[in-house]
Amino acid sequence: MHNFDFDLIVVGGGSGGVRAARMAAQRGVRVALIEALGLDGLGGTCVNVGCIPKKLYSYAAHYAEAFEEARGYGWSAERPTLDWATLKRQRAQEISRLNGVYSNLLRNSGVTVINGWAQLSGEHDVSIAGLNADGSPSHLKHTAAHILLAPGGTPHVPHFHGREHVITSNEVFDLEPFPQRLVVVGGGYIASEFASIFNGLGAQVTQLYRGEQILRGFDDEVRHFVAAEMGKHGVDLRLQTDVVAVHREAQGLRVVLGDGEVMADAVLYATGRVPNTQGLGLASAGVATGGQGEVLVNEHYQTNVPHIYAVGDVTNRVQLTPVALGEAMVVVDHLLGPAPGKAPRQMAYDFIPTAVFTHPSIGTVGMGEAQARKVYGQISVFRSEFKALKHTLSGSTERTLMKLIVDRASDRVVGLHMVGAEAGEIVQGFAVALKAGATKAIFDSTIGIHPTAAEEFVTMREPVSR
Ligand code: FAD
Ligand code: NDP
Repeated sequence: MHNFDFDLIVVGGGSGGVRAARMAAQRGVRVALIEALGLDGLGGTCVNVGCIPKKLYSYAAHYAEAFEEARGYGWSAERPTLDWATLKRQRAQEISRLNGVYSNLLRNSGVTVINGWAQLSGEHDVSIAGLNADGSPSHLKHTAAHILLAPGGTPHVPHFHGREHVITSNEVFDLEPFPQRLVVVGGGYIASEFASIFNGLGAQVTQLYRGEQILRGFDDEVRHFVAAEMGKHGVDLRLQTDVVAVHREAQGLRVVLGDGEVMADAVLYATGRVPNTQGLGLASAGVATGGQGEVLVNEHYQTNVPHIYAVGDVTNRVQLTPVALGEAMVVVDHLLGPAPGKAPRQMAYDFIPTAVFTHPSIGTVGMGEAQARKVYGQISVFRSEFKALKHTLSGSTERTLMKLIVDRASDRVVGLHMVGAEAGEIVQGFAVALKAGATKAIFDSTIGIHPTAAEEFVTMREPVSR
């Protein structure tokens, strides 16, 4: 019998790592969690430079249109201005508070939190490079019966001339000064969200995307619809556009395109994220990786070294916080058995709801029209597009889109999509229905809540196509 320092060492104090460490420690085993950013970084990408600060900035951006729209309701005020420094300070304070909450949660669960960079140095060994209180380097080594890798991912910026002048989502929250002209490169979640956010905050935003339409993978109609709405709000979206080089000049950054150029105060690259496996010592433990550097795992999140597990963005599957949390809980149940009186938790990757916090936002669960057609063959598509009641007086021309995709053979609703205000809030509840296998007949027999936008989902009667 080996005598290990810990039953479980968790590498990374982000969404997946904190959840796994806390749940395991609450079950009475000895757990250490190693976080490179220390106590101040607990919470990982989502808390520090992801979901939370992004959503706070999205709220901030929404006020700009709310002030405008209030006029239609009789309010008048001088044109309000944004104090960027206040927004940044307020955000930083809230994030520090959350870091503290995570620290307390871990401490109260009995997790030993270690500040430092973790590197596997053997099958059961983890070396930790950190700093002592006086700033001198410290080197620790710990052993564990099991190791969970949850080091997340990091932004990927392709190689081009002038790459050193651009920033990523890690730096965008603290930009100084506020970028009056922002170029955003990419067409995924991050690029589209930040294009909307900075546009709302008052920047002149140009979004450059290499393909035919942003948000590849989403329902095609949703993609076109949200792109058009973002355009109405002021985002200058340029499709099939590639960046050749970025030059720093006296007047700002000159972004040279395949055809033409744009001047900017900041250039945000949001061209995907790669697993954080560099310097993790995977080879020392013999842990296998895939083509993108991702840690390969089986259905129990075990790597090819069975006592070493991996969850979250480092596995490069679905990069969403609730997915990392779900995976972490499956690992804990696999290691320690299910919690008393509970069935072992499982992760399913179909019907994962997701929102893109563009303005207007997207909420979606299940398949898009094209994918459903491929999988089910015979489908019915129900669609509603309208001006939200709020905008009858607000003066805004924003429109809302809702779509249901139904498998004709089973009558099951297999896709539900929305572009409009609070789409994420609305779609979360419908995701439960889709997971439960709700049919269109059940949607039809559900009473709406009037007057809401969401009621449209239960009042669409005639398919627009089959
Ligand atoms: P992370 O949360 O990234 O945590 C990894 C941790 O490991 C980090 O704290 C890191 O410092 C630490 N670490 C790494 N290597 C080592 C090492 N060798 N030693 C010690 N520590 C190490 N998802 C959503 O669901 N909704 C959203 O709205 C959303 N918005 C996002 C916005 C942005 C701008 C970004 C970038 C991401 C967003 N995401 C969102 C995705 C979400 O943040 C990630 O999917 C989630 O954080 C992944 O969790 P994780 O545990 O795998 O890794
Ligand atoms: P995505 O994978 O979503 O998008 C990357 C974008 O960059 C795509 O449009 C891609 O184009 C483009 N791209 C990739 N490589 C290049 C290149 N070399 N040159 C030009 N363009 C390129 O990544 P993000 O960075 O936006 O976000 C990472 C992940 O984080 C998301 O996938 C999501 O899982 C998560 N996230 C979730 C959020 C949420 O839940 N609301 C918010 C933010 C992030 P193409 O489509 O042509 O490949």
